[in-house]
Amino acid sequence: MSLHATIGRKPITERVLAAEAANGIRGIQTIVTLSALVVDRAEGSLLWDPEGRRYIDLFMGVGSSVIGHSHPAMIEAVGHQLRRYSAGPLYTEVRAAYLERLAATLPDSHRNIQLYSTGSEAVEAALRLARSRTGRFEVRAFWGGFHGKTLGSLSLHGGDRKRDWGPLLPGVLHAPYATCHDCPLKQSFPQCDVACAELLDAVLDGGSCGSLAAVILEPVQGTNGNVAPPAAFLERVIDFAHRQGALVIFDEVITSFGRTGSFYAFEQLNGALPDIVVIGKAMASGLPASAIIAADHVVDSGPFLAPSTGSSTFGGNPVSMAAALSTLDVIQKEDLVSRVRTLAPHLCERLQRWPQVLPAVRDVQCRGFMIGIGLNVQSAGGWLQKADCEALFAGLLEDGVLAMAYGDRIRLYPSLNIPEPTLNEALDILEGRLKTLERR
Ligand code: PMP
Repeated sequence: MSLHATIGRKPITERVLAAEAANGIRGIQTIVTLSALVVDRAEGSLLWDPEGRRYIDLFMGVGSSVIGHSHPAMIEAVGHQLRRYSAGPLYTEVRAAYLERLAATLPDSHRNIQLYSTGSEAVEAALRLARSRTGRFEVRAFWGGFHGKTLGSLSLHGGDRKRDWGPLLPGVLHAPYATCHDCPLKQSFPQCDVACAELLDAVLDGGSCGSLAAVILEPVQGTNGNVAPPAAFLERVIDFAHRQGALVIFDEVITSFGRTGSFYAFEQLNGALPDIVVIGKAMASGLPASAIIAADHVVDSGPFLAPSTGSSTFGGNPVSMAAALSTLDVIQKEDLVSRVRTLAPHLCERLQRWPQVLPAVRDVQCRGFMIGIGLNVQSAGGWLQKADCEALFAGLLEDGVLAMAYGDRIRLYPSLNIPEPTLNEALDILEGRLKTLERR
């Protein structure tokens, strides 16, 4: 019996919220509790609540739903697979087909794949692989970085979400990330010549036991507010790691599958390649699937070769594989990566005018359809308080837009096939609401 049937008709929203609160759900995402939005159905870039209100979704499950909600191709593929076989890791045609298609998106040197179900789980696998391959244990991570909430991945976090949960993994060293909109060295790019990357050696000298296994970073920091560093920073990091004999892990859980305007963000570098890439979120456009991808020269160690070292109950689940295969199909058939590459410059041009005309906006960073908008909040020397940011979020919702716009930085993750009029409608609403945040 559907939830709607069990809880009666209207107002369904209040009844769902009361039922969830009464029956134990705790600790869920801020956007869930702040929005109090009950989703009845979703299609493309739109959501409807049970009372029939329509919302443009720029949240898209933290950017995971890249091909839009309820894509007919995915409905067909998932339904078909559910009817055939849905639980377990035995060989399936669907997994074989997916691996072939995924491998074709990778450089020839990197066609080694392990399948998992969440980003955190895949980050843990990447750490295991790096440690066993190098025989070392230290990991360099970055200020502002986020890699998940399992204890290993949480140890890598370069912010305050790990407070009260220590002790965490030993040997994690954090270095500054290229947050050029708020440079910790008070310099400006490109005159700085990426001076923050120069600190990598100093941080190592000051904190290492001489056992650096890996350097892990997001090519664009998502949770930190969609912060896009210059390519030169990423290239220097890769160079630093390789000089130290350490492996480079790119956490592309948010940035892969076209989000930043190339299939993987690492494709935007000067040819330098990470040794291990972690993917997740968009892989099955909203269903649980993640993976690590490793270069040939790293795979001759335990976690890749020994039986059961790289397995998990839901890794490579046939239904997730069907969803992942249809995601890849749609991205390729609808040419969504080129679409992002074509549309993003126009979109960014519009948004990058906002700091000049909207006092509430401090900076705008775009990398494809991964957009960060820094607000003039008190911690950045501005006047906006937490309550103003939350009021912005509530106002957007009232106007029918759902977006991660309740903190210091607004994070936008449109689906890669969002119709232009829908995107423009949402941006008009956002601009209108930002205008109302007067300087005080
Ligand atoms: N890495 C990155 C870059 C992420 O953004 C996230 C989730 N926001 C994770 C890892 C963890 O993924 P999951 O929540 O699927 O465990």
